[in-house]
Amino acid sequence: MSNKKLVVRPMCTAQCEGIKSVLAHYTGADRTEKTVSCFFYIEGADGNIIVDTGQSPELAGLVYKDLGVTGKALASPEDLLKKVGLKCEDIDTVIFTHLHQDHTANVKRFPNAKLIVQSAELTEALNPGFGSLWYWPEDYKDLQFVTVTGDQEISDGIKVMLTPGHTPGSQTVLVETEKGVVAIAGMCSVMENFYPPELPKKFFPGEVIPSGILYDQRLMVESMIKIKHVADIVMPLHDIRWATTDRIP
Ligand SMILES: [Zn+2]
Repeated sequence: MSNKKLVVRPMCTAQCEGIKSVLAHYTGADRTEKTVSCFFYIEGADGNIIVDTGQSPELAGLVYKDLGVTGKALASPEDLLKKVGLKCEDIDTVIFTHLHQDHTANVKRFPNAKLIVQSAELTEALNPGFGSLWYWPEDYKDLQFVTVTGDQEISDGIKVMLTPGHTPGSQTVLVETEKGVVAIAGMCSVMENFYPPELPKKFFPGEVIPSGILYDQRLMVESMIKIKHVADIVMPLHDIRWATTDRIP
């Protein structure tokens, strides 16, 4: 437990709309859902730390077109960081929840950052088998990563927790805040995945709905339940509310 009182600032680069079941497995196949692609700046940390890098504004709306997902750019990382008085070159650490394209697309905009990822994730991402649609090794194959294995403290008040299932090496970032532990959850998901409405609960008695993008469903459900147990506030990566949220807490 640290004395740090950190703040998470969502920074949304793109907005998407697609079939709801892409993120909420087996639910809402007849409906669409609006989501965002973000990175998260951790304010008050020792150093300038972000989680993920977000979808590239230039590619928003193009990447998942064949899956019926539409999208639009919201803002560039450069413009988003201005509101906290930083430039992309000032970022010294990027913690990746995982290496899917919508989380790595802007990585080269942060030339001075140490890139932290789980070693199981890097192995998969450099030579993707199942799920290769989501990994774009061209974006990061020439970059130097710092790998971690399992749960680890990254900086005072910031820890990573291995939460596989969405991918082999997805990790959740736990941030100490004045309202308790905020978990930036290591799977492409929205709030409904963690706090399902009544009807889907009958189909998913394990208190969560797994993300529709799955490497291992059982592992994902276990990881999601673990996140709910350690977190006071869960932040699913793609929830639309981050587009209008300045800070948590
Ligand atoms: Zn994602």
